[in-house]
Amino acid sequence: MSSTKPLPGEKAIRKRIELCRVRPGQKVRLAEYNTEWGGADLKKGCTNKQLESLLNQDVSRLAKAQDLLAAFSSWALLVILQAMDAAGKDSTIKHVMSGVNPQGCQVYAFKPPSEEELKHTFLWRCMKALPERGRIGIFNRSHYEDVLVVKVHPELLASQHLPAGKPNKEFWEARYDDINQFERHLERNGTRVVKFFLHVSKNVQRKRFLKRLSDPKKAWKFAPGDLHERACWDEYIDAYEKCLTRTSTEWAPWHIIPADHKRVTRALVAEITAREIHKLDLHYPKVDAKLRTEFKAARQRLQCEKR
Ligand code: AMP
Ligand code: MG
Repeated sequence: MSSTKPLPGEKAIRKRIELCRVRPGQKVRLAEYNTEWGGADLKKGCTNKQLESLLNQDVSRLAKAQDLLAAFSSWALLVILQAMDAAGKDSTIKHVMSGVNPQGCQVYAFKPPSEEELKHTFLWRCMKALPERGRIGIFNRSHYEDVLVVKVHPELLASQHLPAGKPNKEFWEARYDDINQFERHLERNGTRVVKFFLHVSKNVQRKRFLKRLSDPKKAWKFAPGDLHERACWDEYIDAYEKCLTRTSTEWAPWHIIPADHKRVTRALVAEITAREIHKLDLHYPKVDAKLRTEFKAARQRLQCEKR
């Protein structure tokens, strides 16, 4: 794939990407991760305008990469987005995927499981929603909900029709193992998994909720249950820390993305996603000698056709 001239601000983003990536085995403490990377800190690294240019560059890089993904047709890309409410998952998807051909991309938003889904294991519905080779699939929430919301509210397990047993430490450890093996299976079989946790502060969530409540065009995004989940903030942080620690692997690493400033979030997600596709070292299929002869004949026939 052709390399693009680095834009101003790209160096700062590159440095930030290194900080975002959770190394396998690393113990995650979210308090050590900045939700901001904005204000003065951002100005030192790159400006809003530079972030916008970087996003635009990555959006077109992604569009080209997706074309190659489709032509190569051995790999799929699965982007997983997890976050607390109002962290910006929806708007990140909208902006990052804005240049991508809709034919080669699919988004699946996971809601509380249906009766049918509950009659299967928690990975079943995710397996069904995976992108086929040559496509980009985005999971807006994912199988991780089963070690996040379900861990914070273990009473939800009662509806999962599981064999008898307590949701003790071993139970959750087994779920992390299942997830790691599931993602390993995906990587081994041609689905590259890239995972983002959008890390928003409690205060910015409060501000975004207030905005939703006072803007009629945003009110539909607010659910009364959102405040109930907000009240469990510390429990969620704990569940996220354990999950990020246990499921960041060589084959499917997590990235902790500062989410208090949407431009920063979008630029980082776009840049990391584009890089992941580049790493796959894709190329357009070669035209072999037999096909070349067939093409030559086809060209001649077309040229001889009467207009
Ligand atoms: P939203 O993303 O705002 O549309 O909300 C979707 C809701 O579905 C969130 O409250 C999630 O926690 C919830 N949800 C998603 N997956 C599950 C699951 N496996 N079990 C229970 N709740 C879930
Ligand atoms: Mg919501």
